[in-house]
Amino acid sequence: MTGSTARHAIVLGAENDKRAIVLGAGLAGSTTANRLAARGYAITLIDAAGGPGEGASGNRAGVLRPLPARDDNLLAQVTRAGFLATSRHLQALDNAGLAAGFAANGGLWGKTGVLHLARDAVHEATQRRIVADQQPPADYLRFVERDEAAALCGWPVDAGGWWFPGGAWVSPANYCRANLLQHAANISTHYTTRVERIAHDHGLWRAFAADGGCLAEAPHLVVANAADARRLLGDWLPVFPARGQVTHLPAAAGSPPRCVVCRLGYVTPEIAGQRYAGATFLMKDNDPAVRATDHAENLAKLDFILPGFSAGIDPAAIATLPGRTGFRPASPDRLPIVGAVPKLGDAPAPPGLWLVNGFGARGIVWSALAGELIADAIDGSRPGLDRGLAEALAPARFLDRPRRRANKAP
Ligand SMILES: Cc1cc2nc3c(=O)[nH]c(=O)nc-3n(C[C@H](O)[C@H](O)[C@H](O)COP(=O)(O)OP(=O)(O)OC[C@H]3O[C@@H](n4cnc5c(N)ncnc54)[C@H](O)[C@@H]3O)c2cc1C
Repeated sequence: MTGSTARHAIVLGAENDKRAIVLGAGLAGSTTANRLAARGYAITLIDAAGGPGEGASGNRAGVLRPLPARDDNLLAQVTRAGFLATSRHLQALDNAGLAAGFAANGGLWGKTGVLHLARDAVHEATQRRIVADQQPPADYLRFVERDEAAALCGWPVDAGGWWFPGGAWVSPANYCRANLLQHAANISTHYTTRVERIAHDHGLWRAFAADGGCLAEAPHLVVANAADARRLLGDWLPVFPARGQVTHLPAAAGSPPRCVVCRLGYVTPEIAGQRYAGATFLMKDNDPAVRATDHAENLAKLDFILPGFSAGIDPAAIATLPGRTGFRPASPDRLPIVGAVPKLGDAPAPPGLWLVNGFGARGIVWSALAGELIADAIDGSRPGLDRGLAEALAPARFLDRPRRRANKAP
């Protein structure tokens, strides 16, 4: 970008300059880019990888469902808002004809419903009580007894549980691609481009490459580059990578389970000849390899979900199973980190710097809610989310905590 463009932007004033840089083309960056592009912003999207959805967001399938709680705590409220926002957003992408484009490439999503089986009798009683107390609409959540759970998924199971009829499997990588296709005219993509540092000058944010060259400039910069954000923004930001591995299993067309089933882990229905079972979760482990030990853990979880399901898998073949490893950007309180960046290093951050991060194990769930929150904040709209909830997600929440705790890996 040239200096004359920069001068022009200053003359226009930031409020009229509808340009934004989005750093990261995973679920966080691509959904935010989509929501801003839909409001007429011109987006420069930068990612070090060769295309969208190649980091944590590169799995073939993940789960979309909320997480109710007896006291309807913050996590429960935000997962409900996130579940509904992502469901609406995926439906809009689907209605725009974008799902059809991925039919030959694993699909965009499958609204099969999600069965969340109780892990033991105490958990089953809790699940039952939450539904009885909260009386959710039946098309959102109901409790199903063991026999109905087995009929829903098409496999004998050990427990009843929650049935989310609107729950779904989602292909995160195709979701990222669809986000960028929907308003493609407003999104300029730059892959294999690593941002080494960011700086603010004369009302504009700039992203720089390692050779010192300016990659882009705009009045707004959205930092959505997962755990690398800590390097750019400072140690006050407690985002750490959490390793996870998914196991890929061959699946005959129409074979059970018919819906996504969760019970400590998850398993998807058949998707283009495959099903996906996961996932492991390990902090302080940077090994990118697909490991036999993690496959064994996933298969043990699979057997806990659907008893006897993995009996047909030859133990000697486990080491050769395909799979995928990714690194979730995890926050210490399991809530996403979304909003204005309060600090750059040790100094207060100038305006126009935004963070979408800390998606942890729920990136699909948080994505559309986070993207809308940032778009609301940038264009000055009234937030679609309750103010208290929006504040609970703000990056500034970590400044109120003792530095010792904020810097500790969760
Ligand atoms: C095994 C596993 C299973 C999961 N299952 C589920 C599930 O069932 N349901 C669910 O909701 N979520 C699930 N998740 C979580 C979800 O996938 C993540 O929360 C989400 O992908 C995080 O998205 P992100 O955009 O923040 O990060 P990423 O997808 O990692 O994107 C960050 C991007 O930033 C780029 N980048 C980083 N640094 C730079 C730089 N300096 N310059 C340029 N580019 C840079 C990277 O290349 C990358 O593309 C799972 C995750 C894993 C790993």
